[in-house]
Amino acid sequence: MSQKALLNIDYTHDFVAADGKLSCGVPGQALEDDIVEITEAFIEAGDDVFFAIDAHLEVDPYHPESKLFPPHNIMGTPGRELYGKLADVYDRHRDKPHIHYFDKTRYSAFVGTPLETKLRERGITELHLVGVCTDICILHTAINAYNKGFDIVVREKGVASFNQPGHDVALEHVKNVLGGKVV
Ligand code: ZN
Repeated sequence: MSQKALLNIDYTHDFVAADGKLSCGVPGQALEDDIVEITEAFIEAGDDVFFAIDAHLEVDPYHPESKLFPPHNIMGTPGRELYGKLADVYDRHRDKPHIHYFDKTRYSAFVGTPLETKLRERGITELHLVGVCTDICILHTAINAYNKGFDIVVREKGVASFNQPGHDVALEHVKNVLGGKVV
């Protein structure tokens, strides 16, 4: 039997709210209730939940995203806080040993983070992904997970992008190239 975990990626004010710095807009906001429901189901089942949240400096000329995107998810700003009801869920459960939160600085939640070590320690083999954006941080995390031998399940009601064609291509890629499930 596979041990599963939920990766909760970048569902923050800057990526979701109407006035966020790099917002997915309405498609992102529409996920709120489903992300909350999926997250609470994992928490209540005792399965591990990992919040992997983008963390940037205001000015960082060495960061590759600086050339591509406006500043976003700046450390210490409200833009980096979890969006809407997901923030309440995290606050209620944050002290539980199976709830984890860490910063990431690249699209993939595996790069420069303790994620892989924590997954291997716990014998976790199946990763469920929710958050934004489907074609950026979700896809890059899924590709990394594939290369490391994890099974991938993208929760379709829990992911969105500002780029609908990109969202669709990313889900096709997960299914057809990474052999993951989209449910
Ligand atoms: Zn970023």
